[in-house]
Amino acid sequence: MTLVPKADLHVHTTASDGKFSPQQVIDLAVSKGLKGLSITDHDSIEGYLSMREYAQQKDIELLSGVEISCDYNGREAHVLAYGFDATSADLQQMLREQRQKRTTRSKQIISKLNTLGFDIEYDEVRAEAGKASISRNHIADVMRQKFIVASRKEAFDRFLYTGGPAYVQNGYITVNEAIELVHQCGGVCVLAHPGPYYIFEDLRYFLNAGIDGMEYIHPSHNFQTQKKIKDYAENYNLLLTGGSDFHGIKPFEEQMIGTVCVDLTRLDKIQERCTSRYSLNI
Ligand code: AMP
Ligand code: MN
Ligand code: MN
Ligand code: MN
Repeated sequence: MTLVPKADLHVHTTASDGKFSPQQVIDLAVSKGLKGLSITDHDSIEGYLSMREYAQQKDIELLSGVEISCDYNGREAHVLAYGFDATSADLQQMLREQRQKRTTRSKQIISKLNTLGFDIEYDEVRAEAGKASISRNHIADVMRQKFIVASRKEAFDRFLYTGGPAYVQNGYITVNEAIELVHQCGGVCVLAHPGPYYIFEDLRYFLNAGIDGMEYIHPSHNFQTQKKIKDYAENYNLLLTGGSDFHGIKPFEEQMIGTVCVDLTRLDKIQERCTSRYSLNI
């Protein structure tokens, strides 16, 4: 019996809120027998860019990827972009602006935490994040180190959740703008983890905005959710993608790489769609 080659199209590294370096993530994926991978850091392609040569030496296909934080009618939506031209100056400029917005937002969140009586400073959070695209996870990590909370989860559950006491809305790029820009760079856009976040009326919004696919395999999706999203996507001829959303934080998360994954043919389908879109544009 031959094994069907598999791909993980959703992982994070130290370039955003993951704990493993880009190289460690690639080594882990290779060790688990994966044949395709996309590094999809939040608003950063730095991890992907640093690994292009390394991945070529390994028996794994690395697809360009990024998870873009978007504004969706005042709510937050995560859009996964794939197969784009990573050298695009417009794309890199957009991602820089997004990271700048993340910095501003982090400072506002920290000031709310200070008002709530907690001793935490921006410099500490910046040091924790290093050069990474800063996020609420880095704030949560510093809160844990300072014994304000016992875990990232507690930090979110008590303070950082959407609408929570230390929550600040961000002025991210809109879904429409993100999709338009990614298309201009020859890539495709996929709605990340629709299961826990959206109802089916919302999917119509993303469809109208020009979304190219849906992420149906995700740790937060049970079989029923996978099927609902798959049926919906097939009905509209959308791409189907999936991955582990690996951050390297939760216990046993390493086991999700090589377990929560899709057939490598899903990666090929993304590339076919990128090529056909590209040929339509010229
Ligand atoms: P941010 O990028 O700053 O908006 O932070 C969002 C990230 O925090 C997500 O990508 C998840 O990795 C993580 N996270 C963990 N728990 C939660 C939660 N309850 N709500 C939102 N994000 C969470
Ligand atoms: Mn994350
Ligand atoms: Mn996400
Ligand atoms: Mn993610």
